[in-house]
Amino acid sequence: MAMDTKIEIIKDCLIDAKKLRIAGEIIKEGGLVAFPTETVYGLGADALNADASKKIYEAKGRPCDNPLIVHIAEFSDLEKISGNVPPAARKLSDAFWPGPLTIIIEKNEKVPYETTGGMNTVAVRMPDHPIALALIRESGGYIAAPSANTSGRPSPTLAEHVAEDMHGKIPMILDGGAVGIGIESTIVDLTEEIPMILRPGYITQDMLEKVIGEVRMDPGIIASDSLRKPKAPGMKYKHYAPKADLVLIDGEEGRVIEKINELIAAAISEDKRVGVICTDESRSGYQAGQVISIGARNDEDAIAQHLYKILREFDDMEVDLIYSESFATPRMGQAIMNRLLKAAGHQVITV
Ligand code: AMP
Ligand code: MG
Repeated sequence: MAMDTKIEIIKDCLIDAKKLRIAGEIIKEGGLVAFPTETVYGLGADALNADASKKIYEAKGRPCDNPLIVHIAEFSDLEKISGNVPPAARKLSDAFWPGPLTIIIEKNEKVPYETTGGMNTVAVRMPDHPIALALIRESGGYIAAPSANTSGRPSPTLAEHVAEDMHGKIPMILDGGAVGIGIESTIVDLTEEIPMILRPGYITQDMLEKVIGEVRMDPGIIASDSLRKPKAPGMKYKHYAPKADLVLIDGEEGRVIEKINELIAAAISEDKRVGVICTDESRSGYQAGQVISIGARNDEDAIAQHLYKILREFDDMEVDLIYSESFATPRMGQAIMNRLLKAAGHQVITV
């Protein structure tokens, strides 16, 4: 049954306090509100209410074994949902919260299994966004929120993307404009003997190691090894997928451009619509197809910010094939390539 979806533009949390209060009421009553964070837009519900969490899975079409991240606004709230907060949690929160880092710890009986996909652990994050923090406080302190896209579609980085996927399914979307980072938080599991990164993001392994010592990378998420299962249930699904078939081309820039031009010509000769993801520097190397630059090659913040938006644009253009250059940048390269490789179903041509 379709419902009216109200889109509220929030410019300033103080001025728009009334809108935030209404959004908080919806969540306290067990309803859903989409809201901006610094990573991507989230689809929020009361994390301590089993029925409210269930609504998230319904609205997204999300598999029920894929747990949600609980968003908090005060560190002290962590101790209320876990009987075992390790010292590393405090160190990481001092260093990176509010910010794009999710930690996994043991849960207690306050957190329903509906929120954790049946797991005894809970993923927790304090987002660095004034609207998100204000909404969490208005809603009672705990908002379960995955990305606010339909399961399998690229994560939303604008309120318009949320509306595309969630219109008629949820009562309210808070529109705070474009998000800052554009890819999901780093997830680090503190229940492992040596903390383990389950999903790469803006906060890198190096940054974590400077604060808590040795950190490992989940072997299940590295490259195309499909035999090993990732530990985060969500990482095993074909996520972030555009409708078109996406292929990455990797290698020296000149040869990549040459190869993509060959592939474009072949696609056009078969009457296929083709899209290209390139950089500002390589843009002029392509004369055919729908060509979109993701930003300057050395501007990794721009690359992360634009990735999902471009995948959605190609969905709208209804291209059949997308060829993308690869962006293994120094800092966030691992996180960016993790998303792109998944979107491409690990189809890579090395030249
Ligand atoms: P999303 O909120 O859509 O970015 O997805 C949340 C991600 O966190 C998914 O990949 C989940 O599988 C992962 N996650 C959440 N809670 C846990 C947990 N307790 N243990 C392992 N992974 C988790
Ligand atoms: Mg998601």
